[in-house]
Amino acid sequence: MSRIPELYASMCFNDQVMKERLPEDVYRSLKKTMEQGKSLNKEIADVVANAMKEWAIEKGATHYTHWFQPMTGITAEKHDSFISPTGDGKIIMEFSGKELIKGEPDASSFPNGGLRATFEARGYTAWDPTSYAFIKDDSLCIPTAFCSYTGEALDKKTPLLRSMEAISNEAIRILKLFGKEEKRVLATVGAEQEYFLIDKKYYDLRKDLIYAGRTLFGAKPPKGQEMDDHYYGTIKPRVSEYMKELDLELWKLGIPAKTKHNEAAPAQHELAPVFTTSNISTDQNQLTMEVMKKVAEKHDLVCLLHEKPFDGVNGSGKHNNWSISTMSGMNLLEPGDSPQDNAQFLLFLAAVIKAVDEHQDLLRISIASAGNDHRLGANEAPPAIVSMFLGEELTGILESIISGEEYVGKADAQMEIGVHALPKFPKDSTDRNRTSPFAFTGNKFEFRMVGASESIACANYILNTIVAEELNQFANHLEKAEDFKKELNRLIKKTFKEHKRIIFNGNNYSDEWVLEAERRGLLNLRKTPDALKLFTDEKNIALFAKHNIFNQNEILSRQEIQYENYVKVINIEALTMSDMIRKDILPAAGVYEKDLINIIKGKKEISDKIPVTYELNTLERLSSLTDALFAKVEKLDKLVIALKNTNGAEEKAFFSSTVLVPFMEETRKIADEIEVNVSAKYWPFPTYGELLYGV
Ligand code: ADP
Ligand code: MG
Repeated sequence: MSRIPELYASMCFNDQVMKERLPEDVYRSLKKTMEQGKSLNKEIADVVANAMKEWAIEKGATHYTHWFQPMTGITAEKHDSFISPTGDGKIIMEFSGKELIKGEPDASSFPNGGLRATFEARGYTAWDPTSYAFIKDDSLCIPTAFCSYTGEALDKKTPLLRSMEAISNEAIRILKLFGKEEKRVLATVGAEQEYFLIDKKYYDLRKDLIYAGRTLFGAKPPKGQEMDDHYYGTIKPRVSEYMKELDLELWKLGIPAKTKHNEAAPAQHELAPVFTTSNISTDQNQLTMEVMKKVAEKHDLVCLLHEKPFDGVNGSGKHNNWSISTMSGMNLLEPGDSPQDNAQFLLFLAAVIKAVDEHQDLLRISIASAGNDHRLGANEAPPAIVSMFLGEELTGILESIISGEEYVGKADAQMEIGVHALPKFPKDSTDRNRTSPFAFTGNKFEFRMVGASESIACANYILNTIVAEELNQFANHLEKAEDFKKELNRLIKKTFKEHKRIIFNGNNYSDEWVLEAERRGLLNLRKTPDALKLFTDEKNIALFAKHNIFNQNEILSRQEIQYENYVKVINIEALTMSDMIRKDILPAAGVYEKDLINIIKGKKEISDKIPVTYELNTLERLSSLTDALFAKVEKLDKLVIALKNTNGAEEKAFFSSTVLVPFMEETRKIADEIEVNVSAKYWPFPTYGELLYGV
């Protein structure tokens, strides 16, 4: 495998390629743009575009596309070829700076939550020069942000870029107070991605997987994940072949795929890359999900990224590892070696603690989706309650800071801010709690509530913004302080004391925690609409405005889009469920019933003495179950109509979460009971056993 270093990033127009291919002054100018987040001038853009085109053509590319992340959740691309007719029947391959910097896709078919009605239908995409261009399917893909002509964000990338700016600005101010001059501070992210792999031949026979991405039915197989024998288990040959090709494809794109292993549920796996700045990480994660699906098809597999493809076994999430660092790579969440660094660390830590406590709602909103609702609080993922894990050691230190008493712990020292250095927190002492939604893991935080199929952009623009807000408040306060050290001490102590309630080191999956959290006054926003409703609270509108993330219109439109999206998902699931019950499940049960009737009749014809207990009992049971299921499907169809007749996205969303979803769960139970009683020969879909153990 000596060719990996050459292969790596061969399809990515990264720093090294730019250095090689751009005139030195252009390279420097572009670098400056990237480092300072400034816009690119036209002359420079022309040179960069030309170099990019030459490079792309050498790699076989014929088209270019502005690659962006609209609110649909997937990435969008419209491909234009490089060809430009010369008038004599020939063509040349062209790509200008203008085409690189700005594109104009028709914005009208993307969800915009009402922004289109008030503003122009057309939007534009603008190159984000801090994320590298790459080649995919013979197209040069240029990572871009997508805005309306009046500048409103129509995508997930724009708020992320804005939030990176906000956190950078505020962190710079804090660092300055500690005597450090920095031009830019970066939010960093490493997103661990969970997924399921199933055999395509089974997938093709399941309408629920095809339409809804998850199973809407399925009786539990005799074996689930109770043996804990899949997590880190030996990887099956077919899966291993898939993983190898996946790594190769990702490496070519410059995505540093690092770790792969089996996850807790059968057929579930994980991939983790090496972290990078949050916008690049977001792009890379989007791309990773796409490549995962594509490579799977080549192996006659299907990669499921849904948060809850199967009932009864773990769903899939994404662990969003987050930190902030300086351009030179100093991690600001790394406890320092010196008392000075220690104080700085504690201040950043205080900011994160305060941010998470004050903005529990926003963190919950940032990961809210129909799919993720099945996961959160289902004893396999953190509950819908946001809290923080700091580990005993760090919590002990905070306690001693709050009380002013001696810290008796491994560190064996009285913790005084700015006087004592913090002990190092080895990873194994900070990472034992796997149930926390937001865990400190030694030098970063791991936000574990993100759903597997979601873009990590939302989680990260929220994280960046809420922490930027606290840093802003701290900087405002400390910049005015006459005695910096004294004020710093007071501020850290006060913050820890006031926001202690958000820290919970215990088992987040337990029922006691739900009660305890309620006592502490923490939010428990169980379903997506409960969370979304708070998006437009005054507090949030003011926060986003202050940091130039969103204006009020943009928030309203996002809320609307998320409500609509939620409703659409539930609606599709309801329709699919109805279809499968009427066209497949009830008829299959009927065929089996007919068999039973024939057997009973046949036996009776021969002799009254032949027992027919099994046939009769099963027939009776199936008949009542099919009747019950029929009643449910009749009602389900009525509920779908009622949903359609409900006015307003918010009302529709609440109708879905409070009426439809629970009703579908009841309906499913009956269908699964039927599956248990019908001959395997007649069951119209592959079973859970086949799906989960069939590869
Ligand atoms: P786990 O035990 O959760 O699998 P790892 O140490 O393997 O943890 O790291 C998980 C992820 O965290 C990786 O993607 C890694 O690159 C990322 N990570 C490490 N340091 C940072 C950091 N400073 N900022 C953001 N992500 C980081
Ligand atoms: Mg992890």
